[in-house]
Amino acid sequence: MDEVHIHHEPQRVMSSRLNWLRAGVLGANDGIVSTAGLVIGVAAATTSTQAIATAGIAGLVAGAMSMAVGEYVSVSTQRDSERTMLAKERRELVEMPEEELAELTLIYQAKGLDPDLASAVAQQLTERDPLAAHAEAELHIDPDDLTNPWHAAWASMVAFTVGALLPLVAILLAEASWRIAVTAVSVLVALALTGAVSARLGASPVPRAVGRNVAGGALAMVVTYGIGALVGVQLG
Ligand SMILES: [Zn+2]
Repeated sequence: MDEVHIHHEPQRVMSSRLNWLRAGVLGANDGIVSTAGLVIGVAAATTSTQAIATAGIAGLVAGAMSMAVGEYVSVSTQRDSERTMLAKERRELVEMPEEELAELTLIYQAKGLDPDLASAVAQQLTERDPLAAHAEAELHIDPDDLTNPWHAAWASMVAFTVGALLPLVAILLAEASWRIAVTAVSVLVALALTGAVSARLGASPVPRAVGRNVAGGALAMVVTYGIGALVGVQLG
């Protein structure tokens, strides 16, 4: 029993850490692309540093808040439904333990174990921790490891902000005549990096992920630049 535990635990911790890391990289990517599009669009319309800074900061704050709220709502909803399912399972385990054991046995049979082995597995898991056994096999959740919505909200807010700061700082520090070019180049380099990191974390091919990410960001900047230039001409 202990051996299983020692073998299983680090893997679970690793994959949950990987998920967090991946979510962080995606949040940063989001911050980079949306803020770059915003400040480049405004810079295409006006040379006013104040206007660019105002738009960039407002976009950063709005984006970070929206990420946090969205993440909080979605993780809370998921946790509520997981808790409801766990409560139902807990009740069923008290009210009809026989049926629940039969159910667990059937799940392991459906996975390909022969009836005797499936029954032995179900019995041993039930002796150890019936709720955890059912939560894992039936609901695919770990009752001791439900995601905290505040942590998720905070993490995505920080990730988005870190990403958004890059184009904002680039466009405000660069010399006026170079600001769009400097921002575009730093954004494309950063997107190559986040694309590579998220591909590595997901164990997928790096060049393709980098290509897609850089192309997507370039498209976003070209479109917002075009719209900004158009609006700038119309208004100016
Ligand atoms: Zn059950």
